[in-house]
Formats: sequence, structure tokens, C-alpha cells
Amino acid sequence: MAKASVAFLGLGIMGSGMANRLLGAGFPLTVYNRNAEKAQPLAAAGAKIAATPRAAAAGADFVISMLADDVAARAVWLGAEGALAGAKPGTVLIECSTVSQDWVKELAAAAKQENCPLLDAPVTGTKPHAASGELTFLVGGEAAVLEKARPVLAVMSKAILHVGPNGTSVLLKLLNNFLCAVHAVSFAEALALIENSPLDRAQALDFLLNGNPGSPIVKTMAARMTERTYVPNFSMKLMAKDLGYSIALGKSHSVNLAMVERASEVMQQAIASGLGEKDFSAVAEYVRKK
Ligand code: NAP
Repeated sequence: MAKASVAFLGLGIMGSGMANRLLGAGFPLTVYNRNAEKAQPLAAAGAKIAATPRAAAAGADFVISMLADDVAARAVWLGAEGALAGAKPGTVLIECSTVSQDWVKELAAAAKQENCPLLDAPVTGTKPHAASGELTFLVGGEAAVLEKARPVLAVMSKAILHVGPNGTSVLLKLLNNFLCAVHAVSFAEALALIENSPLDRAQALDFLLNGNPGSPIVKTMAARMTERTYVPNFSMKLMAKDLGYSIALGKSHSVNLAMVERASEVMQQAIASGLGEKDFSAVAEYVRKK
């Protein structure tokens, strides 16, 4: 049986790995990226390049986006040259970007007008997991639509979790990210304190990382913060964006996210000091210099 055709929008750190997985699995693939140069490696591997999101979506069975934020998603999905204008009725739309719940709801309503079902499907895992097809998808939307999309999502993932209706997956994803960010900032503070103290750094880190504070995210942060290279797997500016969406979600659920607000302030200051394009673990450099 011929494989379903897929349009992929957004070929950044995550999108390029995910699109490669789809191509490798034999899905006919059309790609769009605002900066068209980033699409060249995929074109060389057999993907078609579209000049606009609308052209990419035309005729596709599935349209998947992996974009920076609400602003990027709006620019790519909506408008005269947006993907929604090109999608045929029945096309399954899959928003994988980490975006706000408000945007997911707005996109779901706009998709409904075009008779296209939407899944909001943010991911956990980072650059290497995108490249190797080992992401975890958190999915919001109807179960029947997820079953239709499962073969497409499967080649990019090790797990698919159906969270609930549209918008619920974003809530769980933002919880995941704000917990990681708070841990990252507090570990950066611990590291700065260790380095400014008479403690033996290696011994102190060995003790902490093999004790109760040694969660997977803290271990990852410790490795990056001590190597001090900060090539972005997940950029600080995008993590800060997620903290902003989390704070708004907290407000809409009448919960004061004081720790998240503080982590957000520290990251905003780190970004203002020029670290926004680096991996979010680079917050350690800002805390060290403070
Ligand atoms: P990235 O490398 O910065 O890529 C961002 C993508 O968004 C690029 O394709 C970029 O296009 C596009 N974009 C940005 N602004 C745009 C605009 N105004 N109009 C059109 N396109 C625009 O980011 P990433 O790390 O791949 O992350 C993508 C999404 O996945 C984000 O929502 C992020 O929070 C989420 N996520 C990331 C990770 C991670 O570890 N990196 C993990 C899980 C989830 P250009 O190339 O033209 O700039």
C-alpha cells in the first residue's frame, strides 16, 4: 500500500531530525522552512521543497509543524499562504511545537472550519532523540485521529501518550519543561556555590549526582555545565518562552508558580547577557558571573 504523504513545516534542531526519520521510513515528504537553505540536506535526500506552507500542505495526508513558538506557528499555519489554506478537508494536522494552550485552541477551531482534525503533539527528548526516532509524543485530540496518525508518529518516537482533548498535551509538556528549568537554575546555583567554596568539586558532584538530587535532568545539566560548551540541544530563548507560557497557564488555573517566575527571571537575565542562542544549561555561566 502506498504510504501517506506528509508535509513538514519547520526544519530547526528538532524538525530536521524528525523530517529525516519520515523520509527514511519511506513517507513521501514535502518540507517548508522560512530560511529555505535549511531544507537543502532533506532535498538532497529526496524530499520536495515547497516555497510556502500552503504549497507544502497541498495534497498532503498529514501536515506536521515543529516551530519555535506561537508567533512562528501563527505565521506558518494561518494567512493566505499558510498551511491551513492549502490543506484539503480531512488532512490530519499535527502541531508538535511547544506552544501556548490558547494557540492550540485557536488552531483547533480554525482547523475545524476547514474540516481538518488537529492533534497537538509536543515532544520530550532533544536533538539526538529527534534524529534517532526516540522522542516521546504527548498527544491531545481525538483517539480515532491519533490512531490514524500513529504510523506517522511511530517512526519518530519511542512512546506515544494520549493525554486527552486538544490542549491537554501542552499542559503536561509545559509542566515537564518548567520542572526541568527550575532544576537547571537551582543546580547552576549549587555548582556556583561549590566552585566558590573549599569543597572538592569532583567529590561534591559525585556525592550529589549519586544521591537524591541526581535526577536525569540534573545529571544532564551537570555534564553540560561542567563541560561548558553549550552547543544548543535546546536553546535558552526557547526554554524561556516555555516558562512564559507556563506562568500564563498557572494564572489561568489560579496557581501562583513562584519558583517558575524566579527561574524565568534568571533565564531572562541570562538571555539579556547574550546567552539566548546557547543551550539552556548556559544559565550556569550567568549564575557563575553574578
Ligand atoms: P529551532 O532550531 O530554533 O527551530 C525553530 C524553527 O522555527 C525553525 O524552523 C525556524 O525557521 C522556525 N521559525 C522561527 N520563527 C519563525 C517565524 N516567525 N516564522 C516562520 N518560522 C519561524 O528550535 P527547535 O529546538 O527545533 O524547537 C522547535 C520546537 O520544539 C520549539 O517549540 C521547542 O520549544 C520545541 N522542543 C525543542 C526541543 C529541543 O530539545 N530542541 C525539545 C522538545 C521540544 P528558520 O530556520 O527560518 O529560523
